[in-house]
Amino acid sequence: MPIDPTLAYDHSNIFARILRGEIPAKKVYEDDFALAFHDIAPQAPVHVLVIPKGAYVSWDDFSAHAPAEEIAGFIRAVGHVAREQGLVAPGYRLLANVGMDGGQEVPHLHVHLFGGKPLGRMIA
Ligand code: IMP
Repeated sequence: MPIDPTLAYDHSNIFARILRGEIPAKKVYEDDFALAFHDIAPQAPVHVLVIPKGAYVSWDDFSAHAPAEEIAGFIRAVGHVAREQGLVAPGYRLLANVGMDGGQEVPHLHVHLFGGKPLGRMIA
C-alpha cells in the first residue's frame, strides 16, 4: 500500500528498524551517511537499496530538509555502492519512488539500485 509522504516520519518503519539493528538485512555497504542492503524481493540480478541514516520520509523530505553534508554523503554513497557492485561499465539504474503515484511503500527514503542485466528503456 503506497504511503502518504506528507505524513511525519514514522520511527517504527521497517528501514528505521534495520538501521537500529532490530531486524536483519543483507548489508553491502555502510558509512556515516548511508546504509545499503539487498532488496528482500529482487527485481534484477543486482537490486540494492541505499538509505540515508537520517530520518527522512522521502526524496522530497530529504531534498528539502537534509543538511548539504548529508545530501552529499548520501549521493556519494549511492555512487560508491554502484562501483563496488561492479555496475559502472555495464551500467545500472537508480530509482526513488515518492508517495502514492510513485508507489512508495516504505516511508524512509530509499534509492533502488538495479543492474546485472540489460534493463531496457524505461520512460515510466
Ligand atoms: P518502494 O515501493 O520504493 O517503497 O520499495 C520498497 C522496497 O523495499 C521493495 O522493493 C521491497 O521488496 C523492499 N523491502 C521491504 N522490506 C524489506 C526488508 O526487510 N529488507 C529488504 N528489502 C525490503
